[in-house]
Amino acid sequence: MKRIVLLGPPGCGKGTQSKILVDNYEYVQLSTGDLLRNEVQKENSKYGNEIKELMQIGELVPDTIVISLIIERISELNNSNIIFDGFPRNINQAEVLDDALKKISVSLDNAILIDVEFAILEERIKKRISESKTNEQRTDDNLETLLNRIEIYKNLTLPIVNYYEKHSILNKVDGMNSVENVNQEILKIIS
Ligand code: AMP
Repeated sequence: MKRIVLLGPPGCGKGTQSKILVDNYEYVQLSTGDLLRNEVQKENSKYGNEIKELMQIGELVPDTIVISLIIERISELNNSNIIFDGFPRNINQAEVLDDALKKISVSLDNAILIDVEFAILEERIKKRISESKTNEQRTDDNLETLLNRIEIYKNLTLPIVNYYEKHSILNKVDGMNSVENVNQEILKIIS
């Protein structure tokens, strides 16, 4: 069984690449963004409103909330190949993930950084906004939120790259390549 973290700035293609692995290679995707959006949809969620507001402005949801949602899922997926999408997003989350996996006697196999120049991210997101149908559009798909998400990524999430480098599990792929090429690179790393 493999446990892979996909890292990269908003708009780098983590979701697209995760979907390819889920559809074709027997991976289960654990996306904290999806778990949080589900939580917001629940009528009786304790934290629904707080989560919604933070997501809308592109801030990170507090670790305690995110961690409780994901830890529950990790223990349910003991016998699956897992792709972590959007988690961890800061050093504390990376440490908590390592500890949680250690408890079930496994460890991460790879952390894959999908590297994209910040300058072209804005263009990608604009495209994503214009192509998505209004009723499918994510409420955090707007430029102001995106720019905040990129800042948060630079300040809080990028240090994880060094963390995984020190743990000798970091691989980088060039996210400026086509979806297929990025997928091929990822397959080479995880096979
Ligand atoms: P994503 O779907 O991964 O792009 O995440 C959308 C939003 O959900 C982010 O901008 C954050 O507000 C929140 N979020 C997702 N994952 C995390 C996480 N691991 N820690 C904190 N907030 C998160």
